[in-house]
Amino acid sequence: MVESFYLGFDFGTSGVRAIALDQDRQCTDTIKIESSHYEHFSQWEEALWQVFAQLPLNIKQNLRAIALSGTSSTVLLCDKEGKPLTNPLWYNDNRGKSILPQLREFVPENHLTLSATSSLAKLYWWYQQPIFKKAHYFLHQADYLGFLLHGKLGISDYHNALKLGYDVENLTYPQWLKNKPFSHLLPMVKYPGETVASIMVNISKKFNINPQCVIKTGTTDSIAAFLASGVKTTGEGVTSLGSTLVLKLLSDKKVDDSRYGIYSHRLGNLWLTGGASNTGGAVLKHFFSAQQLQELTNHINPNKLLNYHYYPLINKGDRFPINNPELNPKLEPKPDKPLLFFQGILEGIADIENKGYQLLQQLGANALTKVYTAGGGSVNEPWRQIRQLKLHVPVVKSLHTEACYGVALLAMGQD
Ligand code: ADP
Repeated sequence: MVESFYLGFDFGTSGVRAIALDQDRQCTDTIKIESSHYEHFSQWEEALWQVFAQLPLNIKQNLRAIALSGTSSTVLLCDKEGKPLTNPLWYNDNRGKSILPQLREFVPENHLTLSATSSLAKLYWWYQQPIFKKAHYFLHQADYLGFLLHGKLGISDYHNALKLGYDVENLTYPQWLKNKPFSHLLPMVKYPGETVASIMVNISKKFNINPQCVIKTGTTDSIAAFLASGVKTTGEGVTSLGSTLVLKLLSDKKVDDSRYGIYSHRLGNLWLTGGASNTGGAVLKHFFSAQQLQELTNHINPNKLLNYHYYPLINKGDRFPINNPELNPKLEPKPDKPLLFFQGILEGIADIENKGYQLLQQLGANALTKVYTAGGGSVNEPWRQIRQLKLHVPVVKSLHTEACYGVALLAMGQD
């Protein structure tokens, strides 16, 4: 039997990771390219070619599909040939703040694009710059990288296009966005993982890649990480215990509430809803060294909850599940023993996680049935047990958490 391989790329903030999966979803090769100066779009391109150069010939010659993910709302303005006119505006670039009052004049109230870092705010900011006259295409990072492989311009996917204002429910741009003087730059939107075209002949020849290999539309890095978990059933959630606490819950119903920063991505006929709290591993890191975290973890007693009712934050203010910019961290009473303080914080974060899932359900998401765990805190087994006690559903560690694994699954699709 001829082997088939599927390649997923994730372009993160500090480098690129790529994974090749075979038809049984087995990981055959992972390539990581870190870069300390990963700012210029030419470095994305270099990294792309480096991955191809490093990929074993057998995989390249039997590649069936490639997909790519990029950081959400990292965007480029390109000329007629697809050449970037400026450096990218990164996901966290908030220069759009200055034009928010003008955006509010035509964007519906509380719309998720009304944020200084949204793709729409970036496009509108560019629209007011002299360079805009030369622009023919507005592309997200993943759209641009896909273009380098299939050669088609002006194509995006509905995960990347959500923060550009694309109406993912009706699969069209809304009327309020259609007739604007910049709307000719809005990319055509396909579903994530949709075939765009075969790989360009010159690239296939240069790197010995199967000429029949197709390039599919991509997604954003955080959705790719969700896809990696393998969750497919509504009611299942993925908690990321990274620097912050991020919850995602697969739901039949679309759930949005701008007060809490809750919005939904479309996943076929389902919705991926969720929110992010400022609590999380950054608070632990603030009080404990990496070595302490590791040592103390072994001594936590999940059968004896302390119930200090902490709300662990580094600075005041949270949005989800409590929307209060003035909310003070609660880390009192502070016990003398570091172990107890550590456990108190873990319990506090677990309470916030529980409250977060409850809020999503109150707003209409499916009842929670199981939680998968990703991020640096997922190594903490007693914490998993504490969370399971509080959430009243099975809590497990995700088998796969790497975004590029999720993108490789997207490339595989229904193939
Ligand atoms: P991010 O990518 O969001 O920066 P990671 O997913 O790499 O974060 O996770 C890093 C976090 O994991 C750190 O903030 C740290 O506090 C937390 N962490 C590491 N080890 C443990 C542990 N044993 N128990 C709980 N949290 C931990």
